This record gives sequence, C-alpha cells and structure tokens, in this order.
Amino acid sequence: MHVKGPRYSWNATVLTLFPDMFPGPLGQSLAGKALKTGIWSLKLLDIRAFAGDKHRSVDAPPFGGGAGMILRPDVMDAALASVDQLPGRRIYLSPRGKSFDQSVAESLVEDPGVVLICGRFEGLDQRLIDARNLEEISLGDYVLSGGEIAGLAVLDACVRLLPGVLGSEEGLKEESFTKGLLEYPLYTQPREWKGKTVPEVLLSGHHGDIKTWQREQAEMVTRDRRPDLWARYREKS
Ligand code: SAH
Repeated sequence: MHVKGPRYSWNATVLTLFPDMFPGPLGQSLAGKALKTGIWSLKLLDIRAFAGDKHRSVDAPPFGGGAGMILRPDVMDAALASVDQLPGRRIYLSPRGKSFDQSVAESLVEDPGVVLICGRFEGLDQRLIDARNLEEISLGDYVLSGGEIAGLAVLDACVRLLPGVLGSEEGLKEESFTKGLLEYPLYTQPREWKGKTVPEVLLSGHHGDIKTWQREQAEMVTRDRRPDLWARYREKS
C-alpha cells in the first residue's frame, strides 16, 4: 500500500555563531516530531566556519567608534553565498525590523523555506544588509543578546502552521490573531473547581449559541486588552 508522506518539506536554514542552540526546544513535542518525520528540515550554518583568517574572526569594532563589535560583511556574505541556491526569503532578525506577527508567519510557510540570519554583538554591517537586500524582522521592542531566540520563535510559529504538524488543523482557525481577534476564554474539567463553575452556554450543547458566545468574548477581550488590534478589526469588518 502506498503510504502518503508529507505534502512537502519546508526548509529552514539558520546562520548563527551558536548552532548548538538549534533545534533546542523545537526538537521536542510537535515541532520535534515533525522534524523527525521530515515535514520540515533544518540546515545550520556556523558563521565562524566562513571566517577568512586563521584566527577565525567574524567581528570587528565599529568605524566611528562606539561600544561593542560588528559582524563583518565579508564573512556573513560568504556564509550567505553558500546557500544561494536555496529558495526563500533572507531574514535578518533585528530589533530594527518590522514586527513579527501571525501574518508574517503565514506568508513564510507559503515559500519552500526561509533563511534566517542571527546577529550577535551589536549586529550586522549595513553594507551586507543592503547588498543582500535582507528583510529585517523584529520579535518585539526589546533587545535580545542574539538572534537565536528570535529565530526559534519565528520557526516555532511557522512550523506549527505546516500541514500535518498539529493534531487538528481546525484549531488553527480559532486561534488568537487568525481572525484578527484574541482568543476567547477556555474551560475544561472539572465542571466545578474551587467553587467556580463553567459558563452555562458551554455546557448547553447548542453549537450556534456557543459560537456566538465565543465570538462576543473574543471581541470583548480584544477591545479591552489590545485597542490596536481592535481598531484594525473594526476597520476590516
Ligand atoms: N545594537 C543593536 C542590538 C544588538 S543585539 C541595536 O541597538 O539595535 C544582538 C543581536 O540580537 C541582533 O543583531 C539581532 O540579531 C538580535 N536581536 C536583538 N533583539 C532582537 C529583537 N527584538 N528581535 C530580533 N532579533 C533581535
């Protein structure tokens, strides 16, 4: 009998000074299982392997002075050149980038893969960003010590969207951000806990009423917590 394999394998390539940080948490649970079964694959490039000199130096002090070190454009370019044949967007994880969100994750999994560049020290030389036309993506308005954790977060958000990774793809449609709303509150067993019961409608078995309640709750939570998302949602609907 023909065993149906995954529809395709999504390829993530990561340039990093710390390849041992990968797959890290993505080697566990659903993402880890999907990695083993080939729904996605992970190629790691150790930036240091592309250093030209015998000291294997990858960084140098900034021209114009200032604190810290900068990743050299020649070294980073050699690392990127080694994966020129791979398809997918070239993304530099950077606090100066466009904010990562669900729609970016959704767009990334439409490609056959992605190449992520993890910065360290003060970051990358601007000439490299320009020459390679790197897309900058930020995890949020705070400074991490390297792009690795940001890269792992981006990959996690992407991998769970690949067909076959989650037990139920239905779940994806209901999640926070998918409809531009935060998720409604969730309840499970026991029915009564510490004197608190579960909203009656959820026990009613009336599918339509439940959907309406969930929608109202999602709208309320979004309006209260995230006026920015709420405004966008109102514009669209
Ligand atoms: N000097 C930089 C910060 C460098 S932090 C600045 O002021 O903007 C070192 C590296 O960590 C960066 O090159 C980037 O790859 C990564 N990084 C830090 N914060 C990040 C964030 N919010 N999102 C994505 N990557 C981040």
